[in-house]
Amino acid sequence: MECATLFSGSSGNCIYVGTGNTKVLVDAGSSGKRIMQALDSINIDIKEIQALLVTHEHIDHIKGLGVLSRRYDIPIYASPKTWQELTCIGKIAEYNQKEFDYGLEIGDLKVDFFKTSHDAIQPVGMVFYHREDQVGIATDTGCITSGMKKALAGANAIFFEANHDEEMLVKGPYPFHLKKRISGDKGHLSNHTAGEALKDMITGNTQHVILSHLSEVNNTPEAAYHSVANTLAQADILDKIALTVAPRYQTHSLIKIKRL
Ligand SMILES: [Zn+2]
Ligand SMILES: [Zn+2]
Repeated sequence: MECATLFSGSSGNCIYVGTGNTKVLVDAGSSGKRIMQALDSINIDIKEIQALLVTHEHIDHIKGLGVLSRRYDIPIYASPKTWQELTCIGKIAEYNQKEFDYGLEIGDLKVDFFKTSHDAIQPVGMVFYHREDQVGIATDTGCITSGMKKALAGANAIFFEANHDEEMLVKGPYPFHLKKRISGDKGHLSNHTAGEALKDMITGNTQHVILSHLSEVNNTPEAAYHSVANTLAQADILDKIALTVAPRYQTHSLIKIKRL
């Protein structure tokens, strides 16, 4: 199994997950053209993409969704209530409108969904399975529950939100109501919370942790990395994994899950 972020952060999110036979995108929060170019940079043709899965309806996750579905005839998978909020993506062919409740199978990929805590109508995180391999994705959540940790624990690669540095958010330029929203239970995870949660989720199976959805204003890649790395080093688990930060506008190098 292989995976990579194509874009990550409040300016746009898109994650590629694939096997030799099945390739999908989680969210399409950039223009169709940019997503195509990003896929091209990891040698994947947009025509190979078999599904567009949506975590939630915020614009940084759906900007290119309608265009890609229409132009390349790709089905969109979203939770039932999320579909009701997707009116802004334009007309989608009925046969490309797919709903999910619990699990899905797309080609040789299985997908499980879990609830996240975010100010969207029905937001989800996802875990992909192919044979023994697992890839987990959790961004856009204001808190992390034991159920979410359980869903992600044991994944070989975990894309996990490290949205903001708590001090940068407090001292930063955002108005009070926005600060409150971001740090609230239905907002986004801080670097500190991400590190603490990852400590509980990293197992002997974990090979890669990719810090994702960083704020441009209230975080830096260095701050996110150092905060999480310190927490994991103190718990003696940093040297057991590859910890990286998802670039905002560029594609993360393609991650290939190794057979253990
Ligand atoms: Zn987002
Ligand atoms: Zn969001």
